[in-house]
Amino acid sequence: MTAYIGRFAPSPTGPLHAGSLVAALGSWLDARAHGGRWLLRIEDVDLPRCKPGVDRLIIDQLARCGLLPDEAPLWQSQRDSLYAQALQQLQQSGWAYGCACSRKQIELAGPGQQRDAELIYPGTCRAGTGLRSPRAWRLLSSADLAGNLPLTITWQDRRLGLQTQRLDSEVGDFVLKRADGLWAYQLAVVIDDAAQGITDIVRGADLADNTPRQIRLQQLLGLPHPRYLHLPLVLGPDGRKLSKQNGAQALDLSEPLAALRQAGSVLGLQLDASSPTEWLAQAVVAWRDLMA
Ligand code: GLU
Repeated sequence: MTAYIGRFAPSPTGPLHAGSLVAALGSWLDARAHGGRWLLRIEDVDLPRCKPGVDRLIIDQLARCGLLPDEAPLWQSQRDSLYAQALQQLQQSGWAYGCACSRKQIELAGPGQQRDAELIYPGTCRAGTGLRSPRAWRLLSSADLAGNLPLTITWQDRRLGLQTQRLDSEVGDFVLKRADGLWAYQLAVVIDDAAQGITDIVRGADLADNTPRQIRLQQLLGLPHPRYLHLPLVLGPDGRKLSKQNGAQALDLSEPLAALRQAGSVLGLQLDASSPTEWLAQAVVAWRDLMA
């Protein structure tokens, strides 16, 4: 049996709030309940959206809740060469192709299908960019090349059960490296989960929809498939996932026990403890029962 290695992978775009603490706590609890290790990765590939100092603030907020990683955290902004190597591998095998289209050109390409307010890429540059220079790199989502990879990705989520997504029609050829030169989340996350030996991904349910793209990249790069558990979300007053945009406040850590209780209740844990340390110890036992 492979030893359990889990992780929490926040983007340092703002301090932890009630919603992100649930993901941090859930991933920590699951690692501890399995006698595993818990790692922390700062996902700062989208540098323009990251705020200076927020990474340290998050690490400090986690520590105040008693959530301490088992290794020094890793920063994605320092790992460019790994992502470049993976992109090169995908280019050489013909799965990644350069795309010269601007947003406007994609809109003009036809009635296109929408997905999360984004148009599904119509595949204009699949056969080459002609005289235009490539701006971004995309992954071919259809099985044109080898024909032996399924178009529909099926995976088992530990909470949501059996999930399926048809990559070519529901997602399309997705971006690996953006026109502004930044690495896309999908590529960076897959490379780092493999590099850190992550066996179990525990994160918010808003990310479940990304899993098939990540599984496809694992298939193409010959990387292991971790297990997945997508946790319930904390909703904001508008019924959408709680975020800074809909009023999430930075966690008040003058009372870490209260913050843990609140995050725990989202995960189905109602415990009677009088300190964070005691609460966490009880939570690990309760989580083991809940997941059994
Ligand atoms: N960095 C991503 C976020 O903060 C999470 C990545 C993941 O857990 O896969 O939304």
